[in-house]
Amino acid sequence: MTRHYNFCAGPAALPVAVLERARSELVDYQGRGLSVMEMSHRSDEFVAIAEKAEADFRQLLGVPENYKVLFLQGGASLQFSMLPMNLLGQGGSADFIQTGIWGKKALNEAKRLGYACHVAGSSEPNGHVAVPEHDVLRVSKDAAYLHYTSNETIGGLEFDYTPHMTREDGQSVPLVCDMSSNILSKPIDVSEFGVIYAGAQKNIGPAGLTLVVVRDDLIGRAKPDIPSLFDYQMLAEAGSMVNTPPTYAWYLAGLVFEWLRNDIGGLTAMDAINQRKSDKLYAAIEASDFYSNPIAEQNRSRMNVPFVLADSALDKAFLQEADQAGLLNLKGHRSVGGMRASLYNAVPEEAVDALVAFMADFEKRRG
Ligand code: PMP
Repeated sequence: MTRHYNFCAGPAALPVAVLERARSELVDYQGRGLSVMEMSHRSDEFVAIAEKAEADFRQLLGVPENYKVLFLQGGASLQFSMLPMNLLGQGGSADFIQTGIWGKKALNEAKRLGYACHVAGSSEPNGHVAVPEHDVLRVSKDAAYLHYTSNETIGGLEFDYTPHMTREDGQSVPLVCDMSSNILSKPIDVSEFGVIYAGAQKNIGPAGLTLVVVRDDLIGRAKPDIPSLFDYQMLAEAGSMVNTPPTYAWYLAGLVFEWLRNDIGGLTAMDAINQRKSDKLYAAIEASDFYSNPIAEQNRSRMNVPFVLADSALDKAFLQEADQAGLLNLKGHRSVGGMRASLYNAVPEEAVDALVAFMADFEKRRG
């Protein structure tokens, strides 16, 4: 068996220990004589798996009692629609900070559904190389929430602060954060947020599962005519089982949470490892005239590191040779080109060392 280093932006690398555990339980789950994939989602066995995964996630991230954790389908993209449907039932505007492609999609989807939307700040004028400073943000006077993307996966732009905002009338605006590509990468204070959501396929588990962490007071505001499967209240009341949930993805996410706690030692330890990994790669880029990354230092993503070669004619050779060296999926997003190394939790530090060594060698030979 050969495992290469996988820098894919998502679906992304999973911890080897998790894959091996899943393999050992694949055919016969803990002596029950069947696979998790074949269990009823209402069986005692699966309900125990589901509850443990939720409990471990709550413990890891420090989710307070007054928040529900939903295990849903439809990807982070479905939340672009479900959020306004659920939070704007009582009117008001959805406010957005724009720092790249995903935040724009979230805004466009809310607009498409006819909701009142307002841009509270944008990094578009600087080409998305630095997030807007806190003091230039402006929320509308009836903002029901403020949406932002804590880490823009394509641009490699990460917030270095939490954009709390207060409306003209003195009300603080609930923060809604798309944490798809940096959830569980470091400790956060969940109580600062109204809603946190994330597609699973980066730091949580396989594709097909989306986690939504929502504060109780934001549940039950949906317009009554939305589909039941989109209604946070109905989903919360049914323990995310209004219909059949993505059971196997839920189970695998549970294994990832266990790995994070037992093998890594929790989010503080994960944070330190992630810091070291990204520091090493940015230092290598910085030290060379051959590689470059345009993002302002304080907003460089620790999860997604885009970079370009001085001569883009060498891109193809770089990617081919990297692939041959067992460094997979370094191609930048199709909308921006260049390279991108995603350094999610499950990408080990050795992978970054191998990438940095390969980059130096490529530069020596081809630069
Ligand atoms: N938001 C962010 C920040 C993302 O990186 C992605 C996926 N790359 C999405 C949303 C969309 O996720 P999904 O494919 O699960 O809908």
